Amino acid sequence: MAHPLDEHLAHVLERLGEVARALRWKQATDAGLSALQLRILGFIAAHPDRAVGVAMLAEELELGRPTVSESVKALVDQGYVERRADATDGRSHALRLRASGRKHAQGTAPLTEAMAGLSLARKNALLLSSMQLLQALVQSGDVQVQRMCWTCRHYRGDRDKHHHCALLKKDLAISELRTDCPEHERAA
Ligand code: SF4
Repeated sequence: MAHPLDEHLAHVLERLGEVARALRWKQATDAGLSALQLRILGFIAAHPDRAVGVAMLAEELELGRPTVSESVKALVDQGYVERRADATDGRSHALRLRASGRKHAQGTAPLTEAMAGLSLARKNALLLSSMQLLQALVQSGDVQVQRMCWTCRHYRGDRDKHHHCALLKKDLAISELRTDCPEHERAA
C-alpha cells in the first residue's frame, strides 16, 4: 500500500541521481572525456578479473553496441585503454586500463566524501534499502542486469540481518553483500 513517503523518497533518489550525473559530467569535462567514457573506465577498473569487451559493456550499461564501440575506440585512440587479444580466442579482445585511464576511473569524490559522513548504521541501512529497491526493479523488469546477492541463487538469508552465500560457504556481513558479483547466478 502506498505511503506518502514513497513519492518523497523517489524524488530524493532522482535528485541524487541528477547530482551524481552532474558531478560525473564535470569530472568528464575537466578530463576532456564524455560521461560515457568515464563510466566505461570505471567499469573496467571495477572488474580487473573479467574480460571486459564491447558486448559486456553494452549489456551492463544498457546501451547499444555501436554507441559503446564508438566510445571505446576513442578511449583506445586517446591512450586511456588498450585492447588485448583473448588468450583462448584470438578473435575477441579484452579491454585493459592504461595508467592514464586508471587516473580517471575512480568514482566522484564529492559523493564518496558525503557518504563518509554517514554513521555505519545509516550506511548499512542505505545499502540494504538500495538493494531492496534494485531487486524490486529487477523483478518488475525495469532493470536488466544486477548481479547482486539478493537476485542470486546462492543467497541464503533474510535480506535483513542474516546473509549467507552457499557458493562461498560463508556468512556475509552487510558490507560484504555484493552488488556486482562475478560468481552471481540468477535465481529462478
Ligand atoms: S555468489 Fe556472489 S552474488 Fe551470489 S550469494 Fe554469493 S556473493 Fe552473493
